[in-house]
Amino acid sequence: MAKQDMREPIETGCPDPFQYMHPVSRKNFGLWKYHEHPRPGVLLHVAKGGDKLWTVRAGTQRILDVFTLRKLCDIGEQYADGYVHFTIRSNIEYLVADGSKVEPLIKALEDAGFIVGGTKNSVTMISHTQGWLHCDIPGTDASGVVKSMMDELIDEFRNTNMPNRVHLTTSCCQINCGGQGDIAINVQHTKPPKINHDLVANVCERPSVVARCPVAAIRPAMVNGKPSLEVDEKKCICCGACYPPCPPMQINDAEHTKLAIWVGGNHSNARGKPTFQKLVAAGIPNNPPRWPEATAIVKRILSAYKQNARDWERVGEWIERIGWPRFFELVELPFTKYHIDNWRGARKSLNSSSYVRF
Ligand code: SF4
Ligand code: SF4
Repeated sequence: MAKQDMREPIETGCPDPFQYMHPVSRKNFGLWKYHEHPRPGVLLHVAKGGDKLWTVRAGTQRILDVFTLRKLCDIGEQYADGYVHFTIRSNIEYLVADGSKVEPLIKALEDAGFIVGGTKNSVTMISHTQGWLHCDIPGTDASGVVKSMMDELIDEFRNTNMPNRVHLTTSCCQINCGGQGDIAINVQHTKPPKINHDLVANVCERPSVVARCPVAAIRPAMVNGKPSLEVDEKKCICCGACYPPCPPMQINDAEHTKLAIWVGGNHSNARGKPTFQKLVAAGIPNNPPRWPEATAIVKRILSAYKQNARDWERVGEWIERIGWPRFFELVELPFTKYHIDNWRGARKSLNSSSYVRF
């Protein structure tokens, strides 16, 4: 094909961010000298040329209705310089170049019911997954857990009393966009899927369902003369991966869908190696609308961490130092057989090839 006939690529990625940046950010891109933390919820960046830019952070519930979004934007127009951005933990940040605007902006946010905080060594806003809004496998709605839990942790978000930052996450299953953080509250399925054989043949593409299982526990089968599927329940790890491509493999239910709490995860390799989180409480009732049992455990972990960790230790580092037996003692959680990872099937049964097995 001649070069002049070639079609221009269609760019569908992120738009150029510079057009949305505060003019002071744009002017000083790559030229910042240092930053300070004048009070919880506020950061001050100082550029080499002397320019200053204040950032005021307020928590949001992430899934925002249009009225709340308009209210937040109106506050930005009236009290800030009209520039905002959202953090990955669903906080809104207002940028102002004039320090005298900071206090009126905080007051306007608090008068409207928003909480300013989430910086430095606070408990951050919980990052969470999509839940019922647009996913097909949630066992519960992560946003509900977030709302009820943050209602109880509001003072830890507003203040900076923790030994270091605490990232909380929730997710509504344990396999896909599931949470990973200092403390993660994740949905846990506890039984294999229940198959409605009358529907499988019409609804599910069986090879894709078979291929989806991470432990090769699903096989095609004929049931009552109809093509269907069967699950080897000894192999099944109750992950829920088969449910999205095949809704007749129902895995959620009010009784068996539970919550589990994991601790010590860290994505970053800034100061140490990234770490996997580890299970500390399982089978917690999935109890809407306030999830009191899960919240009580998270509060116990936070309180033990606050009282016992050294300055700058993250949750995982603190546990590594004191040892897991002491951690379980301090947070008053039982150590059970479910905490022991004895699964050795990966080599033999992990579905790591692209072959479809029949
Ligand atoms: S965590 Fe799981 S159920 Fe929740 S939105 Fe992500 S993929 Fe869906
Ligand atoms: S995909 Fe997950 S839930 Fe479904 S059969 Fe396999 S292990 Fe069990």
